[in-house]
This record gives sequence, C-alpha cells and structure tokens, in this order.
Amino acid sequence: MPLPPAVLWGYWAVHIDDIRYDPAPNPLYQRLRGLVGDMDHWVMTSNVDALFARNGFAPDRVFTPQGDYGRYQCTTPCTPETWDSRPLVERLLAAYDPATGAVTDSRALPHCPNCGGEVEINVRVGPEFIDALYRPAGARLQEWLSASASDTRLLILELGAGFNTPGVVRWPGEHLTRHLPCARLIRVNPAHPEVPADLADRALPVPADAQHLLDALDAPHPAPKPTVTP
Ligand SMILES: [Zn+2]
Repeated sequence: MPLPPAVLWGYWAVHIDDIRYDPAPNPLYQRLRGLVGDMDHWVMTSNVDALFARNGFAPDRVFTPQGDYGRYQCTTPCTPETWDSRPLVERLLAAYDPATGAVTDSRALPHCPNCGGEVEINVRVGPEFIDALYRPAGARLQEWLSASASDTRLLILELGAGFNTPGVVRWPGEHLTRHLPCARLIRVNPAHPEVPADLADRALPVPADAQHLLDALDAPHPAPKPTVTP
C-alpha cells in the first residue's frame, strides 16, 4: 500500500535534510580528497548525496548517474526540467510533526510546477528518471578517458561498489581495466572484493572498507628490523 503523501514527504524531508544538506564536512570524503591530491582525476559515483562535491572535489569532475537528492522532478514526467529540492525540504520541515512523522499542512506538499501532478526526488527509481542534468558530466568523463594516450596510466580506485547496482560503478570499472592496457583496478570492498580471473594480474582485491584503507595508508610504516645473524 503506498504511504499517504503527508507521511512519504515527511520521511523524505528528514532524510534529505540529513544526508544531502548537512553542512558539516565529512572527514572520510575529505581524506579521500587529500589522497587524490594533485593527480588528474574524475569521480564516478552511485551516491546521490553530493558528498564528493561537498568535500572538496570539483563538482564538474563528478559524474552522478543515479541522480541527486538536491533535485526533484515530475513523476509523469511532463517536462525534462528538474527543481531545487532545498526550498521544498525547508517548507516540508516547517510543517513536520516528529511525533507522527507526517507533514501537517497539506499546502506544504509538492506538486509539479508545470502540470500540477505528482513529483518525486530526481534519482533513478524507474524509467521516468530524468538524467538530463547528469549526462553532460558522463560525456565529459568519456572524453577525458578517450583523450588519454594509450600508454597513460589509469588507476581505478573503486570503493564499496557491491552488487546493488553493479552496472553503475563496478562493471564499468572492470570494463575499463579490460580495455585500457595501462589501467589498474583497486577494489576496496569488505564483502565483495573479488576481481575477475582475466584481470587478476592488473586488479587488486582489498577486503576492507574505505575507512580502513585510509587508516592503513596513514599509519606510520615501521622501519624493517635489522636481521641479526649470530
Ligand atoms: Zn508535470
């Protein structure tokens, strides 16, 4: 049974406010930015929370094919336009009752500004998803990859891309590694670090999460103990 709109939008308002509009910096993403440093790089992510762009990565170098909690769209959709979700979230939260989880003023509930119909958050949930905003970054990433000389070294650092949506990051990374002779893949994943057999000499499985990887890279490396021969 679908949730009543007042409860559905109450949930979305709290959830999006928390993970998309939290102004606090995210230490993990900031450490990732530090790890990349001055290297020429791109981010391809299934995230829809803008955490990369909000923590120091250049927004025009982040490809988010799954959408963005920061936008909403017509469910029909009657137009390829999408709209900023921040004013909507603020309006919903102003009418939100934490005791019931519902939005108490029906005038706060969203409708399509164009046709007056239902709207939804602009993330890939079905064929109605409008990806117009994200496609240009995908095209620029393709250009960046094809502009590289055949001997350009490419390191694909894959973090936590399992099997929920393997077609977004995991399989494209394998595909790139397979087709670019100078590419290497590091697969950081506590549950599914395994790499395809044909890439075994160019792909490294790391059975850990990103946090552990960064901690290990930051840890001081002890000097090798001198071998004492009696
Ligand atoms: Zn519409």
